[in-house]
Amino acid sequence: MKRLVLAGAGHAHALVLRALVQQPMPGVEVVVVSPQPLAPYSGMVPGWLAGHYRFDEIAIHFPPLAMAAGARWCQGEIDTLDPARRQVRLADGSTLDYDVLSLNVGSTLQPPPAEHAQILPLRPLAMLHGRYDSLLERWGREPAGRPFVVTAVGGGAAGFEALLAVLARLRALRPECVVHGGLVTRGTRLLPGLAPTARRAAQRALDRAGVTVQFGSGWCSSVDRSSDVVIWATGAEAHGWQRDPARRGSLAVDDQGFVRIDEQLRSVSHPQVFATGDCASWAGLALPKAGVHAVRMGPVLASNLRAALRVPAAAGDLRQHRPQRHFLALLATGDGRAIASRGPFGAEGAWAWRWKDRIDRRFLKQFITAQAAFPPASIQSPLAEVSARHSGESS
Ligand SMILES: Cc1cc2nc3c(=O)[nH]c(=O)nc-3n(C[C@H](O)[C@H](O)[C@H](O)COP(=O)(O)OP(=O)(O)OC[C@H]3O[C@@H](n4cnc5c(N)ncnc54)[C@H](O)[C@@H]3O)c2cc1C
Repeated sequence: MKRLVLAGAGHAHALVLRALVQQPMPGVEVVVVSPQPLAPYSGMVPGWLAGHYRFDEIAIHFPPLAMAAGARWCQGEIDTLDPARRQVRLADGSTLDYDVLSLNVGSTLQPPPAEHAQILPLRPLAMLHGRYDSLLERWGREPAGRPFVVTAVGGGAAGFEALLAVLARLRALRPECVVHGGLVTRGTRLLPGLAPTARRAAQRALDRAGVTVQFGSGWCSSVDRSSDVVIWATGAEAHGWQRDPARRGSLAVDDQGFVRIDEQLRSVSHPQVFATGDCASWAGLALPKAGVHAVRMGPVLASNLRAALRVPAAAGDLRQHRPQRHFLALLATGDGRAIASRGPFGAEGAWAWRWKDRIDRRFLKQFITAQAAFPPASIQSPLAEVSARHSGESS
């Protein structure tokens, strides 16, 4: 029996599992490896930070989805890859051999140490849950008498949305307290990829929330000293094991450690390895690290994994992924409104938030049907069994 290892509970792998629910792959053992069972859907993260959704409402529950797809769920984390031996070593020391490996492990951030401010890195997304809970706990204990300062470092969509969402949440939880917002960016303008009208709408949203913006400036000791909380939202970075040649083996990566892939989503050095979403570096074109790309890659990945494993035996050729040049961006502003931008067009209003909410809920709903068939309580013992068998495989 062949083994396919899906590493990372990312957006593309959710779609691969969804495809497997509809059309299983006989003769292939599918193993899903990821450190957390709940995978937040990026489009709804700002709405959760603002308090519009609960965390479980914005997350895909991977163990039941894996089970519905006939796959084994294995809670763990890739620590080292040996592509020559087709083997991954997990953080607990166990190993997993594969015939085909698919990486959808996202990206991370490495904020500098701070002396005064509490740093809230936005990536990895799956770790934001615990970090945000501890910030909210602290907020409940803060004395009401002095202003509380939240600063975002980074002028992209994630920093913009997260700052407005966090400000809205803190103010709603304790209306008697004063909360100041700031945003620092090395750039000369905000949200560079957006339409000019959308950028102007973004500036108005920041004004409504009383946010001061500092251009041409980044993290420094004065930001640390003057802030209580710093939302770290600089560009996505590759995980440590991808950046370290001793841990990624001979896998080809770009100069930042992102896995170099071709148009069929395969590693340019190892055709048995696929990579999608943030962790990948797309052939010849710098794609923004956005969930929308991981989602678009999902169906092509599902089809190409099947072809690479030759299931069914007469599987067709590998498909090419064609990334969209322009896509609809919908940015939440934390106040029940959103900004829509596509190509040169931009607009904002409460209608855009309702539209975004509908699109995002519809995306998540496709995974719920499968999850409902295997509610979390029903998978506790099979999960324990899988971990036991999995540790038994350690070399
Ligand atoms: C606040 C915020 C808002 C955003 N809003 C949007 C938006 O509206 N639209 C948009 O397109 N993009 C948005 N983004 C960007 C988006 O979050 C990412 O581009 C997207 O999540 C990448 O998806 P992915 O499938 O590559 O990885 P992820 O969704 O990050 O999933 C990676 C998975 O891999 C797992 N993993 C990590 N390391 C390992 C390992 N070593 N072994 C095994 N598993 C591992 C993780 O736990 C996780 O389950 C936002 C980002 C932030 C921070």
